Amino acid sequence: MPAPTTTPRPALTLASPRRAKPPRHLADVAPAERAGLAAELGVPGFRVKQVAQHYFGRLQADPAAMTDLPAADRERIAGALLPPLLTPVTVLEGDGGETVKTLWRLFDGARIESVLMRYPGRVTLCVSSQAGCGMACPFCATGQGGLKRNLSAAEIVEQVASAARSLAAEHSATGTGPGRVSNVVFMGMGEALANYRASVAAVRRLVEPAPDGLGISARGVTVSTVGLVPRVDELAAEGLPVTLALSLHAPDDALRDELVPLNSRYRVAEVLDASRRYFEATGRRVSIEYALIRDVNDHAWRADLLAEQLLARGSGWVHVNPIPLNPTPGSRWTASEPAVEAEFVRRLREAGVPTTVRDTRGRDIDGACGQLAALDVAG
Ligand code: SAH
Repeated sequence: MPAPTTTPRPALTLASPRRAKPPRHLADVAPAERAGLAAELGVPGFRVKQVAQHYFGRLQADPAAMTDLPAADRERIAGALLPPLLTPVTVLEGDGGETVKTLWRLFDGARIESVLMRYPGRVTLCVSSQAGCGMACPFCATGQGGLKRNLSAAEIVEQVASAARSLAAEHSATGTGPGRVSNVVFMGMGEALANYRASVAAVRRLVEPAPDGLGISARGVTVSTVGLVPRVDELAAEGLPVTLALSLHAPDDALRDELVPLNSRYRVAEVLDASRRYFEATGRRVSIEYALIRDVNDHAWRADLLAEQLLARGSGWVHVNPIPLNPTPGSRWTASEPAVEAEFVRRLREAGVPTTVRDTRGRDIDGACGQLAALDVAG
């Protein structure tokens, strides 16, 4: 197998380095704890609810527009509950404007990216859950830079609220366009289950109806993971019917140890068992992500072994999403030949495993899967 990168491999890190915390935001606080916020601010509880209605219900974050709050106190109340968290640095359009990548600067100068993808009938936002990533997968650009820090729940929610705001503004200005974000995938920078509490809190804020959340259907939310087995089980017990995507990339431990370093802790059989349990608990079909890398993991026998491993755990619980590898700088790896990809897919389908090749959006703006690598420079 070719060497993965020309630079030394980053180490797998699970713990987030200790950093200053982002300012607390309304979206960080569970609705049941809003009374405490009101008390802290010295205002009646319904004031916090009013701000929540603006933020989640109307996508309004400008205190001046919150005319149902007392004029003299508007800035103070809304300012304390909705501190600015994300500043846009660059906005890039690809795929003829159908894909938009935004690079954001966070309060401490850390940078993250989110990618909006328009499809007929739906809009998917790909969000980051961490600045950087500690999982060190050698084919992923984000993995090469290591983990900078976990995002707060509100920093995740704000990526979605901000996209929702632009779509709503576009819709009201032009009378056309989708008007809303229908799907959210945790497939940007970071490993969401390594930032478990904030990611789950963010999912709750996304799916609960206003004034508690943005009211996006849980069925439209996908959490992608390298397979942190205990966290997969925990997520299954949250009562949130989100889709789980498992980044498998190899059906055998020898190769997966190389491609997904966390495999040294949780083996292929364990991550597949956990995925099957996730399906049982939630009724949501699990997606198996498989980046097809030329001559590395795209062999016909690996397609057969993958099918065998999945079917050994039953049918109807899983589907496979092969993703043509997006080559990243410094890596010698590239996407499989089209004929090899087609054969890989054919074998899975023939064995009875539903398989759909993932369309790769945003290649032209480095916004495709695994290409997110925001430069961490001050400013
Ligand atoms: N930490 C999460 C989210 C990562 S990004 C996870 O690992 O699942 C979402 C998907 O893109 C993952 O399946 C990831 O393995 C895949 N990916 C990463 N780099 C890629 C690349 N260069 N080409 C194609 N897919 C890639």
